[in-house]
Amino acid sequence: MTRPSDPILMHLLDESPRDECGVVGITGMEGAAELSFLALYALQHRGQESAGICAIDQGVGRLHKRLGLAAEVFDANVLKGLPGDTAVGHVRYSTAGGGQLANAQPIMVRYAMGDLAIAHNGNITNAYDVRNRLVKEGAIFQTDSDSEVIIHLIARSRHETVEAQIDDALTYLEGAFSLVLTVGDTLYAVRDPRGFRPLVLGRKGDGFAVASETCALDIIGAELIRDIYPGEVLKLRRGEITPLRNLVTVLRQAPCIFELVYFARPDSRIFGISVDRARRAFGRQLAREHPVEADAVLAVPDSANSAALGFSEGSGAPFELGLLRNHYVGRTFIRPSQEDRDFSARIKYAPVREVLEGRRVVVVDDSLVRGTTSGSLVNIIREAGASEVHLRIASPPVRFPCYYGIDMPTKGELLGHRMSIAEIEKHLGVDSLGYLSLEGMEEAVKEGGPFCNACFSGDYTAPLVDLEKGLIGPEDTGCC
Ligand code: SF4
Repeated sequence: MTRPSDPILMHLLDESPRDECGVVGITGMEGAAELSFLALYALQHRGQESAGICAIDQGVGRLHKRLGLAAEVFDANVLKGLPGDTAVGHVRYSTAGGGQLANAQPIMVRYAMGDLAIAHNGNITNAYDVRNRLVKEGAIFQTDSDSEVIIHLIARSRHETVEAQIDDALTYLEGAFSLVLTVGDTLYAVRDPRGFRPLVLGRKGDGFAVASETCALDIIGAELIRDIYPGEVLKLRRGEITPLRNLVTVLRQAPCIFELVYFARPDSRIFGISVDRARRAFGRQLAREHPVEADAVLAVPDSANSAALGFSEGSGAPFELGLLRNHYVGRTFIRPSQEDRDFSARIKYAPVREVLEGRRVVVVDDSLVRGTTSGSLVNIIREAGASEVHLRIASPPVRFPCYYGIDMPTKGELLGHRMSIAEIEKHLGVDSLGYLSLEGMEEAVKEGGPFCNACFSGDYTAPLVDLEKGLIGPEDTGCC
């Protein structure tokens, strides 16, 4: 993985776990590339390293992808060069394979059945194992991305129809994959049997849209039909939905609960539930589990806003805007010659002195991963005059890495793995610390479960084949 060398930039980028990708697929809508661009714009929070769209016109695919944000990669001229009523799009934050352009998606190839384009969110946990076998059989890979394995499996399948080839390819894969792919002008939507990553289906007129989150459907005016179910493969063409495969009853479902904690946008619905409602329920439950006398409830903006509102509802203490986030922190800035130790947190967050002065505050954050910013935030809040600072975390301690498509630090870097709760409390300098319990978190969103909670519990539901065979190291958590 390509890491920035500037330590402040590393700090800003690395504090939170990052989702790896957002995908969109559109068929039966004129200007599919433009609509895909809008969808990628809405999904930008899922990956900021590269963006790409492959549009299909009369069965011919045209691809444009570059490093950068969607708005940097596409303009009106580029989109004009991507005609057709079918398209797939992708935004990416890379870990597996690194951040170079070769690994940007969609990946497009010409094979026996026509132009094939694929966009993938997730991490295939036996990608190296399958890849090694394919290489021995003569396959030549152009990228380091685990997603290219899927293309090879489809293209090398001995079955005669595209549908049978996709079905065949899927039998070799373990781990997390929400996919949109096109062969000619037919769109296919695929979700792995455990359903780790979200994928939703929408309709607009006679056309269909498939996307990682409903915020991408909303921005193009498509109406949500439902989630693509775990294990499901849908063929979408000319106003018809054809279910091809459903493994839903075979394996334990495990949608990623961290999507609800942190990754997904609060205006989205995923796994059949509202992300905002889920976060509020986490906050209310947290207030029940760890009550505290306080004058104000603050969020670490923006990801903890909904959970803090929930804590306020549950505790009766008023929610106040005590911390502001600077939304213009870019990838580069001029470093001052005199830095204080909380400098990188100060760039990102500013305290509102009038809210904090002389008050007992509860600060609600969505999760604690490395905890590098949290200690600085506590200092900033105290300096602004707060008399007590109580930290509440709307998820349990993160103690294990994710191998299913989220970039998390190694076990040794995770605060929840390195320290006990009492030690973290002391380390961060808070008056009290409370984490939401695993049971409380799952109870709060029980209508969407059972969920994957491996980063909290170590209970990995899908086999970690590459890790167990020593083909990757424990730090190679990988992604799309
Ligand atoms: Fe999500 Fe954690 Fe499971 Fe990864 S390990 S899929 S982040 S719940």
